Amino acid sequence: MQPTVQVLDKKFELYLSETEIQDQIKKIAIAINKDYVGRRPLFIAILNGSFMFASDLFKQLTIDAELCFIKLASYKGMTSSGQVLTAIGLDVDLFEKDIIIIEDIVDTGKTLNEFIPKLIHQQPASLKIAALLNKPDALEFPIPVDYLGFSIPNKFVVGYGLDYDGLGRNFKEIYQLV
Ligand code: 5GP
Repeated sequence: MQPTVQVLDKKFELYLSETEIQDQIKKIAIAINKDYVGRRPLFIAILNGSFMFASDLFKQLTIDAELCFIKLASYKGMTSSGQVLTAIGLDVDLFEKDIIIIEDIVDTGKTLNEFIPKLIHQQPASLKIAALLNKPDALEFPIPVDYLGFSIPNKFVVGYGLDYDGLGRNFKEIYQLV
């Protein structure tokens, strides 16, 4: 574990250690195991950033659960914002299922604010959000995170799945921009 890391042109300092991250994920898993006992939730993990969080969280589950990975892509469309969000790989029927979205970080909340209505359209039985990180000071859309790892300051972070210009995803820790 290094106190600082250099990724391309930027220097980052250690913010959350591997132990802190793993301990928090265990707590989230305990809560989910309790809340979903006797049910069979479908976890929808949003790529790329959430792959490590999804993997470590899933390993801690003792309930029956399904997992799928999707990728969100924006393309130019005829909406007021000029962008249309599409979910690639979402080929499961969500009707009457208990859904838990797995997201790496909720920043402005824009991504989930656009994605959630698409899921609700399929009439799941329930829909909850598990996010490793959120940045309350950056939030622009009302996204209720049901299972949260850490609330962090409005600073750019890398590591544990999160990248800076494609790099840094492999760090076991989370580093903050200096
Ligand atoms: P939102 O739509 O909530 O503004 O942004 C969510 C997405 O932006 C995250 O899934 C993540 O990919 C990216 N993001 C937001 N903040 C950070 C950050 O501090 N570091 C990295 N690496 N990605 C971030």
